[in-house]
Amino acid sequence: MSEKVIVELGDRSYEILIGSGIRELAKQSDLLVTDSNVDKYYGSWAETKANCKYIFPAGEENKSIQTVADICRAAAQNRLSRKSVMTALGGGVCGDMTGFAAAIYMRGIDFVQIPTTLLAMVDSSVGGKTAVDIPEGKNLIGAFHQPRRVLIDTDFLKTLPLKEIRCGLAEIIKTGVILDENLFAELEKAPETLTTAPDYARYSSIIRRCCELKAQVVAADEKEGGLRAILNYGHTFGHAFELLSNFTLSHGEGVALGMCAAGEYAAAEGIWSKQEALRQKKLIAALGLPTRLDTAYKTGDVIQAMLGDKKSASGKINLVLPTRIGHAEIFKDAAAGKIALAVESIYA
Ligand code: ADP
Ligand code: ZN
Repeated sequence: MSEKVIVELGDRSYEILIGSGIRELAKQSDLLVTDSNVDKYYGSWAETKANCKYIFPAGEENKSIQTVADICRAAAQNRLSRKSVMTALGGGVCGDMTGFAAAIYMRGIDFVQIPTTLLAMVDSSVGGKTAVDIPEGKNLIGAFHQPRRVLIDTDFLKTLPLKEIRCGLAEIIKTGVILDENLFAELEKAPETLTTAPDYARYSSIIRRCCELKAQVVAADEKEGGLRAILNYGHTFGHAFELLSNFTLSHGEGVALGMCAAGEYAAAEGIWSKQEALRQKKLIAALGLPTRLDTAYKTGDVIQAMLGDKKSASGKINLVLPTRIGHAEIFKDAAAGKIALAVESIYA
């Protein structure tokens, strides 16, 4: 059984197909890009679906303009034309780079996404953001380039380490908190079937719901003029924690802690009930994500890191805060003192 979501973007609309075995729907690609880990598991399958394959070394540290240039060179060496199609088979790193390469090779060619991490399935496969890192910051160079099609095969999750599953779960919790109480309540049921004893059929419908919700937000606000910014819930705090931990915290862990801090902030402000903030914390913990910061970062450093985030506008920190489970709003120009208190309240 498969599920389908249509991302409505006029002549750039595309479909996302979700289910077990969906990868077999992939058409022959002119260049398939994957990383060295994913290649170990799925490289020989990939060869049946592509005329050529480009493998880059796995790891965020390779999410660079150099790797994108190498992908473009592989495309040129294999004579890809404006009519050719690139395919990304991998996690967010692979999707971001392949999408960016497809955005700039010959000023833009088509690409298809076959995400293999839960994070990429629920997050980066919808929205058309592509990017690479530079030493000055993550995702600072990129382009909007929508895929032609996204094929989400839940069977890929069978080889994905639990730590990576949890990264995706953090974004799924985020989606529930800001957009859909039913999704949130669904996650509260039998958490072990999402983590230690995963039920992949259950995942299909959860992924479908996340894609659907994100697709609605993106269709309403493709280039992040307003509404799309609510997807940053937990991320302004979270990115600061990731940075201050020297990236020993994963993105999912950073977002989980960021949601806890944002929850404390919202509850202290009286815009969110303490009860619901606690309900969020319980779900985060039940899915094996952190709710307490082991290292007590200096609050001044956290605020500096938050101000340095590319999404903070001109010396001001804007926060996405829930007002109830299933709804969030943007609050402009958060006070440093209140941010400090929220951060301190999640110290272990
Ligand atoms: P993300 O999708 O979380 O942004 P990455 O693209 O870096 O991040 O993927 C995270 C890690 O998981 C990488 O080391 C990648 O090689 C590995 N990986 C991706 N998909 C799978 C899979 N289906 N099975 C096993 N490992 C995978
Ligand atoms: Zn994220």
